[in-house]
Amino acid sequence: MAYVVYVNTPNNKAIVHNSICGKYQSRKRDKTHNGYWTKPYSKFEQAWSFAQSTGKKIVDTCSFCCEPAN
Ligand SMILES: [Zn+2]
Repeated sequence: MAYVVYVNTPNNKAIVHNSICGKYQSRKRDKTHNGYWTKPYSKFEQAWSFAQSTGKKIVDTCSFCCEPAN
């Protein structure tokens, strides 16, 4: 399993998802109107640290596909 980050600019969010998440699987393109999906990361920690590095106000995991972050 891999991890991807969705960066949403208007909502000031960076959310970590599993690559099997329906929201990722159903995306039409990596770059969206409101933001973008990153490449897949093999480790959660890598995706999480990328999410933090975006400087978004809200950094979290997807409640739909991920365990809550500690
Ligand atoms: Zn998700």
